[in-house]
Amino acid sequence: MPVTVGLIVDALIALGGEAHYNDIADYIVATSPPPFPANPAASVRARLQERCSDYEAYEGQQDLFESERKSGVWRFRSWTPSPPVTAMPVHEDGAGYKAQEGALVLKLHYTRERDPKLVSKFKAGLNDPNCEACGFNFKEAYGDLGAGYIEAHHKRLVASLTEGSTTRLSDLAALCPNCHRIIHKNYPMSVEELKQILHAPNGYAGYIADAKTTRTTWKQAVLNAIERVTSGKPNHEFSRQQLINTELVTIIAEVAAKGESPAQTMSRVLQELRSTGAIDFVDGKGCYRTK
Ligand SMILES: [Zn+2]
Ligand SMILES: [Zn+2]
Repeated sequence: MPVTVGLIVDALIALGGEAHYNDIADYIVATSPPPFPANPAASVRARLQERCSDYEAYEGQQDLFESERKSGVWRFRSWTPSPPVTAMPVHEDGAGYKAQEGALVLKLHYTRERDPKLVSKFKAGLNDPNCEACGFNFKEAYGDLGAGYIEAHHKRLVASLTEGSTTRLSDLAALCPNCHRIIHKNYPMSVEELKQILHAPNGYAGYIADAKTTRTTWKQAVLNAIERVTSGKPNHEFSRQQLINTELVTIIAEVAAKGESPAQTMSRVLQELRSTGAIDFVDGKGCYRTK
């Protein structure tokens, strides 16, 4: 596939934010589907220069990268704390991020959490921190060589940041580099989700299987609730709001839900029920009918 700016952003993030263009090209060739241009490294260098205002090849779009002349080593252009963050649309589950947009979102995310002042303040408040996802402790593993080492991860989705919003210390999580990479690679994954995955008895596969079971339980609980609110109603009609007002507490108790946003989960289950034909829209405004 052609060498895109998005691929370069991904590669730079994976390579720690700074890399020689040859290494960026090697990474892209190792992680993306072929075919590649005849000279991937030259393509990478051309894309980098097109997005770097220090070069004649600069095309005037977002000024993303910078490099010491002749070094061949490239990094993201330094973060200046004041540029407005353009609010991007919030997608329900993040799956809707298109590759390019996702790459730019990640770039914003990445530059935010590398703000040196903020990060040193954050680290100053920690004492021998454990990774918040896997529990790894650098002091335990490396002794004084690793004492105090940890990375700062910005927990809020860039999509949720509004123009001019500032990063608070509580927006940051302490992560080991492995967990940090995995979270970026699967952006927008939350720290909490990675933690659950790492602690799932059967690893990621077990976590996914459990999530499916949980959804089935939710489905059953919502079906039970629908049954209760429509019983004795000849037209079999009910509304989403009615379920939230009168049944959500019961549903939550039935599924022993914790952590998730129950009203949203219920809406998702209603969508699933509608796609399987178990219920129908009456008016498209949250009113349904059972069959
Ligand atoms: Zn970790
Ligand atoms: Zn991060």
